[in-house]
Amino acid sequence: MNLIVVDLEWNSASRSQKVDQELASLMRFEIIELGAVRLREDLSLGSEFHRYVTPVLYKKIHYHIAAVTKRTQQSLREGVLFTHMIDDIIAYAGENPVFASWGTADADVFLSNCHFHDVAGDFKFRALNAQAVFSGLAEGETSGNQRSVEYALDFLRLPKDLPFHEAITDAIYTARILARTLEMELTDHPGETVESLLKPYIFDPHLTRQLESVVTLDKGIDVVSFLESREYTCPACGRKLDLAKTESGGYWHTLKTGKRWFAAAKCEEHGDIEISVRKARRSDLQRYTIRTLIPDRPLKIPVSHEEKTPFVWIDPDA
Ligand SMILES: [Zn+2]
Repeated sequence: MNLIVVDLEWNSASRSQKVDQELASLMRFEIIELGAVRLREDLSLGSEFHRYVTPVLYKKIHYHIAAVTKRTQQSLREGVLFTHMIDDIIAYAGENPVFASWGTADADVFLSNCHFHDVAGDFKFRALNAQAVFSGLAEGETSGNQRSVEYALDFLRLPKDLPFHEAITDAIYTARILARTLEMELTDHPGETVESLLKPYIFDPHLTRQLESVVTLDKGIDVVSFLESREYTCPACGRKLDLAKTESGGYWHTLKTGKRWFAAAKCEEHGDIEISVRKARRSDLQRYTIRTLIPDRPLKIPVSHEEKTPFVWIDPDA
């Protein structure tokens, strides 16, 4: 697997600069720096890539971003154009790359910048959420508690010998976290490979991975019966989904009575799909939001928050 660990720094709108709203809606965050490091098959860190990018839309550095990244207004002019950076990273990344980053925001921002500069078609990549890999494999959690890079370094007893919030050092930290997490997992499960462990966490950021719709039911209609009778489609391709049966024979898991439900489904092309349903809050109407999602981690049925039937102890001698 051609695994490249990437970290971005980006700028956004600030009060001191008027930006055309239509342009701004196409690109909410503009990349000003990209750092990357290759994670080799043997989990050692390989060659690095680093570019400052000169913004064309948000040319004034936002004070908060300046404070976190320690970038100055002057330094924004010292970068290359985004399109040049893309040419360079295509050459650096090589065939069929998987871009790993902490969380999913980097992949979304990267793609929005590619669309803005009309280069999205030139460069196909798959994405991997390193934060989800850390939570799932090192912490044994799939619910996605969003840990910070620093938390993961502490958890794995990795050194914090580099500055934070610089693209290249954050990429190196993320690569070290991935490498340590995978090493530990391979020691515990010798039958696995880096490829097999990472497969459920890889997603295609070019797809529409999530769709929501709202339905309002007439009074007296049972939600679960309605959900059972309905058909569901894949957010990416619109194919009809196959829902997985629960132990009790239906398709729907009640997570909270009258409020939240979940079903596991499959698209023939895009694999596992999560369907979650939530009743609208503060509404007298029977209004429900139905969300279909291609997950960026192994699909797991969420834990039900149903109150368990209280245990009553009966004294056998009574
Ligand atoms: Zn599909």
